[in-house]
Amino acid sequence: MRNPVGGHVPVAGGLAKVGLGYARELGAETVQVFVANPRGWATPPGNPAEDERFRAECAAESISAWVHAPYLINFGSHTEATAEKSVESMRHSLRRGREIGAKGVVVHTGSATGGRPRAEALAQVRELLLPLLDELTHDDDPDLLLESTAGQGFSLCSRAEDFGPYFDVLDRHPKLGICLDTCHIFAAGHDLTGPHGAAQTLDQLVATVGEGRLKLIHANDSQDVVGARKDRHANIGVGHIGEDAFRNLLRHPATAGVPLIIETPGGTAGHLADVELLKKLRD
Ligand SMILES: [Zn+2]
Repeated sequence: MRNPVGGHVPVAGGLAKVGLGYARELGAETVQVFVANPRGWATPPGNPAEDERFRAECAAESISAWVHAPYLINFGSHTEATAEKSVESMRHSLRRGREIGAKGVVVHTGSATGGRPRAEALAQVRELLLPLLDELTHDDDPDLLLESTAGQGFSLCSRAEDFGPYFDVLDRHPKLGICLDTCHIFAAGHDLTGPHGAAQTLDQLVATVGEGRLKLIHANDSQDVVGARKDRHANIGVGHIGEDAFRNLLRHPATAGVPLIIETPGGTAGHLADVELLKKLRD
């Protein structure tokens, strides 16, 4: 199929047992999971039996898996402790990603805190993140996927063109990719609506980072208007992005083969409806 559609699934109680159980309930063709508390720094070991079962069942059902790294990670932070913990947390998510057979690990691009200049923060991104990319030498290591933010505060990357300097400081590493969150990019001012909105945004992204770097899409509608810099996800078709934009997104060459993960509200009923609608828009 052109674009597998799935969602972020809960895993408390077992990656395979609970996570894939929920995925099946949604009719998900791809899944995203946390491998640590997303609001903490803990780096828990996995359960080898559960990892093995998760990998085997994903393979048997042709479900691609993705990991979302914790939200606290900020490679641009001026606080030494945060910078150090960000490295350990990211290294953990990448290792756990390989252990569960994930294709990519998504991390937020972070911000320049403490009033430090953007260039200084980006230099630190290079210093901290490039060694982690260089550690990805196994055949089954996941890609490291950068997810831009809605543009709050001193965000290092929110507009499509911001990925340019970020990719440059990381030497456009071959293991580097992008996770495009439709709500975030819309919040940052890229109007995805209208006959050309989605195509223009994707064209700009490809012009900035080159072909083949877009590996994953977080398909979320937005509760707020374009450019609002607010990260409030809505169910597909009921926010300010609207279902036509998603239909157009799914027609663009840059999204061919790229899985869609929903991170939307509404519990199981909301998730079921979103997965179903995205499949309909795709087909
Ligand atoms: Zn997202």
